[in-house]
Amino acid sequence: MESSAIEQRLHFGNMEYGCKHYRRRCMIRAPCCNEIYSCRHCHNETTSMQSHLYRHDLVRQDVKQVVCSVCDTEQPVAQVCTNCGVRMGEYFCDICKFFDDDTGKQQFHCDECGICRVGGQENFFHCDKCGSCYSVTLRGNHSCVENSMRHHCPICYEYLFDSMKDTSVMKCGHTMHLECYREMINRDKFCCPICSKSVIDMTREWKRIDEEIEATVMPEDYRFGYFVMTAMTQPKFTFTLLDKNVVTVVHIIPEQSLRLFFLNDQILVVLEKNVATVNLEHYLIPHQH
Ligand SMILES: [Zn+2]
Ligand SMILES: [Zn+2]
Ligand SMILES: [Zn+2]
Ligand SMILES: [Zn+2]
Ligand SMILES: [Zn+2]
Ligand SMILES: [Zn+2]
Ligand SMILES: [Zn+2]
Ligand SMILES: [Zn+2]
Repeated sequence: MESSAIEQRLHFGNMEYGCKHYRRRCMIRAPCCNEIYSCRHCHNETTSMQSHLYRHDLVRQDVKQVVCSVCDTEQPVAQVCTNCGVRMGEYFCDICKFFDDDTGKQQFHCDECGICRVGGQENFFHCDKCGSCYSVTLRGNHSCVENSMRHHCPICYEYLFDSMKDTSVMKCGHTMHLECYREMINRDKFCCPICSKSVIDMTREWKRIDEEIEATVMPEDYRFGYFVMTAMTQPKFTFTLLDKNVVTVVHIIPEQSLRLFFLNDQILVVLEKNVATVNLEHYLIPHQH
């Protein structure tokens, strides 16, 4: 074959095969039970429904054989099918035996973590003390907790280190899923479930909320307003106005249209309408340490 034909063949079937977890052009033979599955999550979901004795997780690094989805040939793990010449994954990690055609996820392998992660190498750094990759926004900007990510989410009990969901790092350095964290905040619980420290670090969230506010175009009368209060000494707050849309903030009526977010010693109050007054006393942090 000419080099352009070989090149073309590599991309054949790209994004057309896979399971609900990954787009990829191969299945894996589970090293543990010798069965064929689309991916390790498919394996784990299936075995978790079996009897207690049979329940087990697949160790990704142990996968030895894959089956090409285009030509059905079983073969040792490699990026390109030895029989039909397609790339079984546009992204391929030889350590994790991991294939994914959807490179938009910006997969990368972290040597220290020993697994592949998503979100772009340039957006993460590996914190040796916490023992995991964290967003660069947290570099020199978080409390380190030894092996912080090597435990289960205190809300849903899923193991955090290799969870597919986003994780939030609290001011105390403890971690939980971002969605579990949001759920907790929605239930008006502002303490870390592990150490009970109250104020929560939202560095990553913070930026997103900023963007969300910027990106939201609302009719003049309903434009979001927001301001930051700094917790100086309880029970008094001083606060800084960040947005001209907020009317005089001394007393504002608490409404459902009001959302609170926490950043270090500050509280971000997002108003979904220009409401007249908020009673700040109402929002005292329950247990400050
Ligand atoms: Zn198995
Ligand atoms: Zn799957
Ligand atoms: Zn093949
Ligand atoms: Zn990897
Ligand atoms: Zn890492
Ligand atoms: Zn750390
Ligand atoms: Zn969780
Ligand atoms: Zn904590």
